[in-house]
Amino acid sequence: MSKFFNPRLSGLEAYTPGEQPRDRSYIKLNTNESPYPPSKGVRKALDRKRIDGLRLYCDPTATALKEELARVYDKKSSQIFVSNGSDDILNFAFLAFGADGILFPDISYGFYEVFANLHSLPFEKVPLKSDFSIDADDYCKRNKMVVIANPNAPTGMVLPLKKIEKILKANPENVVLIDEAYVDFGGESCADLVDKYPNLLCVQTFSKSRSMAGARLGFAIASEELIADLEKIKYSTNPYDVNALTQAAGVAALQENGYYMRNCRRIIKTRNYAKKALENLGFEVLPSKANFLFAKCGQFTGLELYLLLKEKGILVRHFEKDRIKDFNRITIGSQKEMEAFIAAVEEILGA
Ligand SMILES: *Cc1c(COP(=O)(O)O)cnc(C)c1O
Repeated sequence: MSKFFNPRLSGLEAYTPGEQPRDRSYIKLNTNESPYPPSKGVRKALDRKRIDGLRLYCDPTATALKEELARVYDKKSSQIFVSNGSDDILNFAFLAFGADGILFPDISYGFYEVFANLHSLPFEKVPLKSDFSIDADDYCKRNKMVVIANPNAPTGMVLPLKKIEKILKANPENVVLIDEAYVDFGGESCADLVDKYPNLLCVQTFSKSRSMAGARLGFAIASEELIADLEKIKYSTNPYDVNALTQAAGVAALQENGYYMRNCRRIIKTRNYAKKALENLGFEVLPSKANFLFAKCGQFTGLELYLLLKEKGILVRHFEKDRIKDFNRITIGSQKEMEAFIAAVEEILGA
């Protein structure tokens, strides 16, 4: 740290993203990307004309993209916010709505704590129950912003919509942010509740189910008032945060939404295969509605299994936290990749 660094941030611990190694090719099951490529229309949208257009600033209102999202999600454009990945939306939302303090589960997306610290906001990590489920009552009448990933990461477990409604009703004075990065893999979206609950902020991303992690595109669905607040933060940060190529790719992807939803169904099928195969090998596997499994080997710690798999050219995720250090988070790749993964695990276990 240089002597010039803001002392208020001297204790800030940055988020550590999953590895993106370039040294050799791996079967990459560590950052929940899609094994399937973007749709044909996306490739067509990024043409010569679009490249020549980079001379100009992109549309700061992202009108075409918002209209397409509004069509797919049956909302008004004014109920849609877009940003450079959903991480940016989380960042903006913490800044905009977190002044009373923030509640989130102790085991969840690691970035929540980073954003709270970045903005010096008080926060409380609410322990998950022993079966890794969320108890909605822990988040009721607390007079704080609530942030819940649904499905949760890295567990993959879902909180039913009825429970989310309970939290929304019990916190009318605070924003309830539901991070739906994985909702397309079998979860239930709260997007249709935004007309009923002006405190609901539903956040989604193109990174997982729409094969565009590298393009950086996230969106939020909420009441017009909450969206206007987020726009205010965006226009105080970087009005051009969704670049022209990503806006065009996003519009094209939404026009071929069926392709992506079919891929999600393929991933669900492969997830069911991988879960059974791991259970047959003695793993404990949590019930996942995401594009990953959270699994405990029993014979090795998460770190050990991660290292053994890496030697075989397969990347998965492990965690340092005590409560989950015996688990690995395994992204669902293609059927072929998952068969190779299971074969590697069998070898490691000598099964
Ligand atoms: C991947 C992920 C995000 C971030 O998505 P981007 O749109 O790529 O920034 C947000 N929340 C959760 C829970 C995630 O797993």
